[in-house]
Amino acid sequence: MRLLGKRLLRCKRAEGAGEVQNDDEFIELLRNDEDFCEYAYLLRIFLIRYRNTIECPECGKEFNYGFIPTRKSYHCRYCYNQLYALSETPFKKSRTPLTVIVSIMRELSQRQYTAKYFERKYSITYKTAYYVKKKANIFIKSLTRKELEFLLRPIDYQDFDVVTEKRAREILN
Ligand SMILES: [Zn+2]
Repeated sequence: MRLLGKRLLRCKRAEGAGEVQNDDEFIELLRNDEDFCEYAYLLRIFLIRYRNTIECPECGKEFNYGFIPTRKSYHCRYCYNQLYALSETPFKKSRTPLTVIVSIMRELSQRQYTAKYFERKYSITYKTAYYVKKKANIFIKSLTRKELEFLLRPIDYQDFDVVTEKRAREILN
C-alpha cells in the first residue's frame, strides 16, 4: 500500500514546483496537490474499512491490494479482484471530489453548517451541497471516533508511504 510514493515523486517534479527546500514546504506541496489529497483520503477510507481483512475475499490468499489511480480502485496482487474504498458507503456513486467531501465532514464534525453555507464556500450547487451534507452526516455516524480523526486529520507524511494496513491497525484498533 505504498503506491502514493510514485505520485509524490511526480508531484515533487511538477512543473513550477521548483526545489523543495524543507519538510514544511514539502507538506505544503502535498496539501495543495488535489490528486494527491484525493488518493490519500481514498486510501484512508480503504484502510478504515479493510485494515482487519487478512485474506482476499475472492481468492483467499494473503490480503495484498495495490492502488490503481486511473480506476480509483484497489486490486488483489494475486487474482486482480477489485475493491472500491467507497462502495457500501453513502458516497459510492458520488461525483463530488473526496477533498470537498472530507472538508465538509471536517466542518460538520465541528458544527451543523447549512447546505447554503457549503454551496457558497465550495462553489457547488445547492442540491449537491444538500446531499453531500446529508450523506456526510450518515458517514460520520458510521465511523468510530478514532476512525473519524484518522480520516479528518491534515495530510502529512503518513499519507506518503508510512500508512499500511499494519500501521492502520496500530492507529485504529
Ligand atoms: Zn485475490
